[in-house]
Amino acid sequence: MSGEARIAWDPQARRFAPLHQEEAGIMSVAMAGALVESLPACDPVGLRRILTARTAAEAEPFRRAAEQVLLQHCGDSVRLRGLIEFSNRCVCDCHYCGIRRSNRRVGRYTLSLADIVETARWCATKGYGSVVLQAGERRDGRFVAFVEQAVCAIKAATRTPHQPEGLGITLCVGEQTADTYARWFHAGAHRYLLRMESFSPALFGRLHPPAQTHAARLACLRMLKEIGYQVGTGVMIGLPGQTPDDLVEDLLAFRDLGVDMLGMGPYIPHVDAPLEGQGEIASDAVRLQMALNMITAARLLMPTLNIAATTALQALAGDGREQGLRHGANVIMPQVTPPRVRKLYTLYDGKPCLDDNPEQCASCVEGRIRSVGRRVLWHAWGDSRHYAERMRVGPAQEDLR
Ligand code: SAH
Repeated sequence: MSGEARIAWDPQARRFAPLHQEEAGIMSVAMAGALVESLPACDPVGLRRILTARTAAEAEPFRRAAEQVLLQHCGDSVRLRGLIEFSNRCVCDCHYCGIRRSNRRVGRYTLSLADIVETARWCATKGYGSVVLQAGERRDGRFVAFVEQAVCAIKAATRTPHQPEGLGITLCVGEQTADTYARWFHAGAHRYLLRMESFSPALFGRLHPPAQTHAARLACLRMLKEIGYQVGTGVMIGLPGQTPDDLVEDLLAFRDLGVDMLGMGPYIPHVDAPLEGQGEIASDAVRLQMALNMITAARLLMPTLNIAATTALQALAGDGREQGLRHGANVIMPQVTPPRVRKLYTLYDGKPCLDDNPEQCASCVEGRIRSVGRRVLWHAWGDSRHYAERMRVGPAQEDLR
């Protein structure tokens, strides 16, 4: 291997630097290239190798490959979705989640329709192009009708000369019936994010009460796809008891399901939602690196997906979302939840941006995107290329800009 370039990203200097010392586990660029080329064949050994890189230096050859694949297949634009956390009321009791039903220490809220529409209108004015309506889970008739109304009202209120079809709308409100999903789709929501949390049935079982099943969640993902949504899923990374093989299983499941979007982030403990085995989780730095490795591996395996650089990455490092972009992500979800309720939507401890207002988040996010040499795709839905190809239509003109 003598004569081959051996370089690594120096996070302090923010540049690539030659490696002066042999660090265990660091691969040459050529070796990494060979490994990356084996991925389309779904080589679990190669995936495992990427996922287990423990330092930025060790991960660097893979990161670079993922960034190149992203630029080649999806371009350099980052797609924005204003994140509206419209309610923290929830009927589920996920063991890891700070807003689970049995947590009596959190004040509950639901935004009014007027607040939701106003927030979405603000996003349209800013050029965000899409919103995500996220909430705890409810399945009662009032809730179903409320979400339907919100989708219709946002569509009507956000038509602009830039976006005559109104904002793109992603829903993230958990498991529902096929009828409900269809109603919301016909109201105008065209993307749905339902994280599987873990595709391993055993691990899923440890994260949820028996009433919430792996099979039911998987069935929902299939229903969503059948109805015609652009479907996103994802997992938490660094959970107690989770192994690299579990994460390989997750990656292969994303691919087998043919999802269009991914949202993944590190597991972060919440004081009122202690998971069993929490004392044994890896350090913040290691969980962050594992999450970045997952983004890298997903991008290399599935070049045309939209992959989010999630808020949870930023909870573990100030520049976590930018790092996500550098590792193959191309979506950012700026916080637009009205500041007065933000502190009540605490899924995990240390959630960032709780004191900022949407205006501050807007100016911050563009700077962050530019800092890693990327640009914002304004006033566009920014659908995933995977979806366009799946539907056998070309990507929308706006998304090619
Ligand atoms: N009720 C909706 C939204 C859930 S919150 C649904 O079920 O889809 C959105 C995501 O936050 C969850 O899917 C989960 O992956 C993530 N999340 C919740 N608690 C977390 C924690 N402690 N650490 C990291 N991510 C967490």
